[in-house]
Amino acid sequence: MLVYLNGDWIPGEDACVSVFDRGFIFGDSVYEVIPVYGYRLFREATHLSRLKASMLAVGMDMNALTVTWSAVFARLAETLPSGEGTVYLQVTRGAAPRQHTFPANAPLTVFAYARPRVPETGVGTGYEISAILCDDIRWTRCDIKTASLIANVLLAQEAAARGAEEALLVRDDRVNEGAVSNVFVVRAGRLLTAPRNHLILGGVTRDVVLELAAGLGIPFEERAPSRAELLGADEVFITSSGREVAAVTRIDDRPVGDGRLGPVFRRLHAAFQTFKEEVRIGTRT
Ligand code: PLP
Repeated sequence: MLVYLNGDWIPGEDACVSVFDRGFIFGDSVYEVIPVYGYRLFREATHLSRLKASMLAVGMDMNALTVTWSAVFARLAETLPSGEGTVYLQVTRGAAPRQHTFPANAPLTVFAYARPRVPETGVGTGYEISAILCDDIRWTRCDIKTASLIANVLLAQEAAARGAEEALLVRDDRVNEGAVSNVFVVRAGRLLTAPRNHLILGGVTRDVVLELAAGLGIPFEERAPSRAELLGADEVFITSSGREVAAVTRIDDRPVGDGRLGPVFRRLHAAFQTFKEEVRIGTRT
């Protein structure tokens, strides 16, 4: 596998970063995951704006980077079999003697690679999953896409240990998002999803799904559902770059609604497939 590291193109097994890198020592880094369909990057500009916002939020200087992202992404996409997968990129605050405050002269570390799409292993269809409910143990800057992901790691592991594919996170009785996804609830034909604020990562897939809902005339409200609204929902689904749009048909081992894929999910899932096809042939981004 070919990777990009600080301006060089090298085989993944030869790519090394310093043990003093602050990404390693402190988790002092930000990242992005961008879907690739038919060698084309999905919402590249939006992912780059989010990277910029994350860097700004943690005091990393975007102007200190000399990388031409579009050229790097295009070359990485070329490494994917059939051009299907995701591009991962990470920027850390560089290598420096360990002290919490920012180092004066450490160049940022920039790393990127492409990964083929991994087929989902959910309940049957690949776009149907089960979930558990967990307390949201994360900090309150969930809008920053940082690779300091220990809380998300523990939550995802808890889900896996209980035979589920996602942990839906509750804070002050509100379900804001999942450990690795945004969450949507359907009640009486109406979508409910948490608003973009510091308690969620503003998902690129989430925003595409809201655009598709608007186009299909499906009403939606950006308000975080309560735990009771989630558990009494007709349908629940999640969105993310990796899982796209996936139905949650069981929560804590109980069926959601009638336990089957719901009509609103089916419409949005189908619309998302069409959208992807348009990205593949280059008529949408
Ligand atoms: N929320 C969290 C905590 C995530 O980790 C992710 C994706 O990794 C998302 C939401 C979905 O974001 P996107 O659709 O941009 O992948």
